[in-house]
Order: sequence, then C-alpha cells, then structure tokens
Amino acid sequence: MASITLNNIVKKYDDGFPAVNNVSLDIADGEFVILVGPSGCGKSTLLRMIVGLEDITSGELQIDGHRMNEAAPRDRNLAMVFQNYALYPHLTVYENIAFPLRLAKDKNGDGSGGVGQGSVDERVQKAAALLELTEHLDRKPANLSGGQRQRVAMGRAIVREADAFLFDEPLSNLDAKLRGQMRSEISQLQRRLGVTSVYVTHDQTEAMTLGDRVAVLKKGILQQVASPRELYEQPVNLFVAGFIGSPSMNFLPATLKDSGSAGSGGAVLSSPIGDIPISAEKAAVAQGRELVMIGLRPEYFEDAALVDEAKRSKGSVFTAELSHLEWLGHEQYGYIEFEPDEKVRRLLSDLAAEMDADELRPQVVTTLSAESRVRPGQATELWVDSSRVHLFDPESGENLT
Ligand code: ATP
Repeated sequence: MASITLNNIVKKYDDGFPAVNNVSLDIADGEFVILVGPSGCGKSTLLRMIVGLEDITSGELQIDGHRMNEAAPRDRNLAMVFQNYALYPHLTVYENIAFPLRLAKDKNGDGSGGVGQGSVDERVQKAAALLELTEHLDRKPANLSGGQRQRVAMGRAIVREADAFLFDEPLSNLDAKLRGQMRSEISQLQRRLGVTSVYVTHDQTEAMTLGDRVAVLKKGILQQVASPRELYEQPVNLFVAGFIGSPSMNFLPATLKDSGSAGSGGAVLSSPIGDIPISAEKAAVAQGRELVMIGLRPEYFEDAALVDEAKRSKGSVFTAELSHLEWLGHEQYGYIEFEPDEKVRRLLSDLAAEMDADELRPQVVTTLSAESRVRPGQATELWVDSSRVHLFDPESGENLT
C-alpha cells in the first residue's frame, strides 16, 4: 500500500487550456478518496496522470514519497479497476483473476507471468477467499451476479498486489438498484482490504457514500477536499453547496432588512419567499452588502403544524403557498415558486452558469414529513430552521458563514 501525493499538478492538452489546474492533494496510505465533479471538470485526466496514461504538464506526483512523473505505468504498481464488462466472458473466474499475472512479462517462460505457477495459484486462491469467490472459481462471468462480477474485477487488482486501486466511474453503466448494491460492496471491500483507493465519479451520491474524503473539482480546479459530512455542512462556496446534496440546496437572493442586536437576535433578511430571521452574528456578515445569496437545504423546512415549541423557537415560521407536492412515501417534497424581479432573474441565471446547470428555477424545494397534511394551492405555515442558513457572496460564491 502507498500514499499518493499531488503537488501543483497541471495538465494542458494541445489547446493549451488547463484541463487540470494546479491541483494539490495528499492521499494517505489506506485512504479512500473520491474525485467528483461535473462532466469535463478534469477528474478522469487526473486519474490517468496518476496511473501514467497521461503526461503531467507540470507539478509533481509522488507515490510513497517517490517522484513518479516519468515512471512507466507498470512501474507505478497501481491497479485500475474497470467496469464489470472488462471481464473475459470465455474465461472462468479463476482465469479472469489470474489474467494480470499471466499477462505480465513472462520471465519464466512457463506462462506464469514471472511469478511462478505455484504462486499464481496461491495468489488467486487468497484473493478469492478474501472476496468470498472460492466456490465460484470455475464459473464463467455470465453465471455470476453483478456484485460477484465486480468482486472478480477487484480480484484482478488484488492478485497484482498493487499499492493502490484506481476506479474510473466503474458503476456508470449499471441500473440504479445494482449501482446501490455495488456501491456498498466496493465500500465494504475497500475497508476490509485497507488499500489506498482513488475513485472517480460524477455522481455526488456515490461520492458521499463511498469516500473517507471527497475532492470536488470544477473546471480543473479543486474546490474543496473534506469528509462527506463537512462538505455537506460546511461547503466552501456556492458550487460545492449546490453540487453536494439531493435535492440540491435552495439559493435565494436576500437583503438585510434589520440587523438586530448582538445576543438578542432580531435580525431579518428579506427574501423572495418572505422574511427570514437570522442571528445577529450572521447578520453582521451581510452588513454593508447590497445583496447576499442565502442557502437553505430542503430539510431545513417542515410543516409548522408538526414542529414542537422547543424546535419552533430555534427557527421561524412563515406563510407560503405550495405550488405542488411530490409524495415519496417516507417524506414529501413541497415546492414554493416565486416571481423573480429582473435583478433576481439575472442572479439566478449567473448562478446557474456558475453551477454548470441549464437553469435555476425560481423555486424552493422543501422536504416535509410524510405525515404532513398540507395541500398545494393554500396558504400554509411552514417552519424553517433559519439558524442553519448559509450566506454566500453572490459574486465570488464564497460561503460567508
Ligand atoms: P467526464 O466525466 O465527462 O469524463 P471528466 O471530468 O473526467 O469528464 P476529463 O475527461 O478529464 O473530464 O476532461 C477534462 C477536460 O479536458 C475537458 O475539457 C476535455 O474536453 C479535455 N480533454 C480530455 N481529454 C483530452 C484530450 N485527449 N485532448 C484534448 N482535450 C482533452
């Protein structure tokens, strides 16, 4: 196993545009790090530079403290884990797992890939035992479940005794249900094996559920590297806040209506869905700014009728009309639409460009309890946990709270 260190890594393709722009990242021995971001953000390029399939324009790559920029892929001792279709259908599980050993330069001239036939068998059996595949070694991939196939793919990486596993969107071709299963298989296996792993995905759910730490990239630039919880609770900017979480955080332009007084609160932000009381400390951040962007996650809202007194006092109640409701069984999404003025419309469109989204609709998504009896089209009392409101600079996108 090994640590992987990226120091100011830059990749420029022929057009000169930095596909990866000055990325620095320390991946500890045994750590599981996810590279996530929208299409084109440079995550695959970064992975390919680590494994040696792409030259590094500038900066330094170290594996276990040794510079590896110029090392050939085979000398880096890293294993790419491919999607399950990378298995050979005509070979048994045993032969699929043994394949990298046979493929390696055949130093012994006996088809053993330079590790000796005895050793091949030993390694395959050991990997199979780890992966609980021993009783399936004679089967062909077609006769395995999706999870078992994924384990065979990992078996190939294990027999090579690689220092780290690199995954490039391994689950992107699977349907949602299988993807969920595979996700937990990979996560459990990685933890059991304790192998340093780097995993590329554009799916924020995958990123949040798999990794010890998640690195969020946008247009080649690293935005934030943090644990899933920290990313969710303390996103550094609008982009990370909007990218992480589903449904996404709601953003509303707001102005400071009343700055309140320290300790006693009483500060109020005026927003398109009504006044939102905030602490005087947060109000101080908005002071002197013409406008701030408020960030409220859908679950900060609740049907006011279901909120007890103690909780009620931590947030605030406002009246809104829900345009429609989506029933999900365990909860429901309530939508509040608002009419943006020209300025707000422009801000939302700038924000959409910043988020890489087609458009941001002038609406707020709220997550309400399944037992709520609220109805669309009626004046409804909603509670919002305004103590958790995030305030962003609309220009730089920086989280000010
Ligand atoms: P996706 O999820 O769509 O694969 P990604 O985040 O993995 O996207 P990359 O594939 O790393 O992004 O691409 C980053 C940028 O570099 C993109 O703008 C892409 O067009 C560009 N790029 C990638 N490969 C090449 C190449 N071989 N030549 C020129 N430009 C490239």
